[in-house]
Amino acid sequence: MCGIIGVVGSPDALPILLEGLERLEYRGYDSAGVVLHFENQLWRARAAEGVESVSALVDQCAAAPRESGSGIGHTRWATHGAPGELNAHPHVDCSGLIALIHNGIIENHHELSEQLRARGHVFSSVTDTEVLAHRIEEHRAEGLDLEAALRATLHEVRGAFAIAVVDAREPDVIIAARRVSPLIIGTAEGSTYLASDVPAILDRAERFFVVDDDQICRLTPNGFSVTDLSGVPVTLRELEVSWDLESAQKGGYDDFMSKEMHEQPMAISATLLDRVDAAGQITFDELRLSDDQLRTVDKVTMVACGSSYHTAMVAKYAIERWARVSVEVDTASEFRYRDPIVDATSMVIGVSQSGETIDTFTALREAKQRGAMVVAVTNIVDSSMAREADAVLYTRAGLEVCVVATKTVLAQIVALELLALRLAQLRGTLAPEEVARLLQRLHDVPAMVQEVLDREAKVADVAHQIASTRDFFFLGRNVGFPTALEGALKLKEITYVHAEGYPAGELKHGPLALIEPGVVVVALMTDDILRDKLLSNLAEVKSRGATVLAVAHDGDSQVAAVADYVICVPATESLFTPLVDMVALQQLAYHLARERGLNVDRPRNLAKTVTVE
Ligand code: GLU
Repeated sequence: MCGIIGVVGSPDALPILLEGLERLEYRGYDSAGVVLHFENQLWRARAAEGVESVSALVDQCAAAPRESGSGIGHTRWATHGAPGELNAHPHVDCSGLIALIHNGIIENHHELSEQLRARGHVFSSVTDTEVLAHRIEEHRAEGLDLEAALRATLHEVRGAFAIAVVDAREPDVIIAARRVSPLIIGTAEGSTYLASDVPAILDRAERFFVVDDDQICRLTPNGFSVTDLSGVPVTLRELEVSWDLESAQKGGYDDFMSKEMHEQPMAISATLLDRVDAAGQITFDELRLSDDQLRTVDKVTMVACGSSYHTAMVAKYAIERWARVSVEVDTASEFRYRDPIVDATSMVIGVSQSGETIDTFTALREAKQRGAMVVAVTNIVDSSMAREADAVLYTRAGLEVCVVATKTVLAQIVALELLALRLAQLRGTLAPEEVARLLQRLHDVPAMVQEVLDREAKVADVAHQIASTRDFFFLGRNVGFPTALEGALKLKEITYVHAEGYPAGELKHGPLALIEPGVVVVALMTDDILRDKLLSNLAEVKSRGATVLAVAHDGDSQVAAVADYVICVPATESLFTPLVDMVALQQLAYHLARERGLNVDRPRNLAKTVTVE
């Protein structure tokens, strides 16, 4: 998500901030802004012109006071409040003396802003961020300095953040803090920097340090000091940086696909933030439908393309099992042209990373014209689909640069499963304790995904051993079926090798004729429902000479006895297994592509966002 930069102690801070913001553009953003310290005041400029925002900001900054030595800058990727100048950071308190930038999400912003408004604070944006500026203002008024005021505020907030704050009364000081969202500090002779990541300050700083969760940093021209939330001094880990700009943008990974696969725990955590209200009800980001309207839903139709189609299929299992509503999943490009049967009691859910996929967008529009309740699940705030829909759930995966989807896929599954739980709450089909239990299990998933990521070497080794394979069949049952489809699609997209996904029970109705020595069958064995039947299917393909590669639970000796290769993953709830298994399948495709020397970030013939029919 977006980017932050700051500098203290420079002879001229502005060009450093603007260049840093340009270098953060690759992270994706919709608006940008800076604040400079200037003669015991703050000077602020903001621009909201989409991907042109930084250049618009550069134009505005022609009027900036020159030779300010410190300031902060931000590129925003909206999560709360549409992209627009009023919502762009930095945000200021009522006095205009305190300015703040923030990456992440403040989960309890509703209750904090209600309390602040009741005490007379006037808000100028609809972001979750602005509460921080006003709460720091209150703590400053109690006599705390800026660092103590931020510390006190952080004790009161829940969520994810990288924050930098300045105060006109404390020139040459930036206070910064982090929880979940990334933050680094850089130093050079006489000046100190902070940024979301290395590229922003690559040529400016000489040494780089990584800020950890719940640490508060005080930056001055001569360096920095760091304390934990209780004020105890801590030492930061130094980062060895020998990267050029391009590898710095990839966070030191060889390519964006690898970087984005490793961002998946964060993408899931971010998508889960701020989702349950005080009454324990799961919330949408935008909702223009009443609960009574939502309760009338008697049929759900999901429309999507590509990987999003597979996440929609996972959602079908979740919605039907938890909310007991019948769900049909339709390829978006087919929906509109088959005179679909939807009406005022139908919910039509469009799933698209970009929110601009023309097939999905036009399908939603068609559904709306037919009177259906229309829901969008997308990664881009205020995208065409988000604007068209009656309700929106955002995935918060941050920008995805690689053409093939990884982190946005997992974030979509999480968002759709939250939607399924919301429908179950409305319809009373799951007990409140069961919803709470499932939510708790969902919160455990990021750590499991991390575990799979940490075991990548094993997958790379398997990929090396089967690198010459030209035919793959991916088999699964239940939610293992959409997982199989997604695994096959990833493989096709980046290795250009033939791969098909099948529900395992369908094998004997045709594809079994293609099974012969040299074919690799990838079997998803982690969902305990129907696992025994899958074991029989494996016996069928093995007896026809196929090589079996199984994705199985840790410690599943029965599968290990049948399969030629096993990739082990942690066990989780049946409906959450795609979130874990798909990571292993991404790694498999990734390493098979690398074995072939292919460019995983730019597969041939494919575009990231498909805006033609
Ligand atoms: N949640 C904040 C907003 O919507 C920050 C978003 C970001 O990380 O850029 O303004």
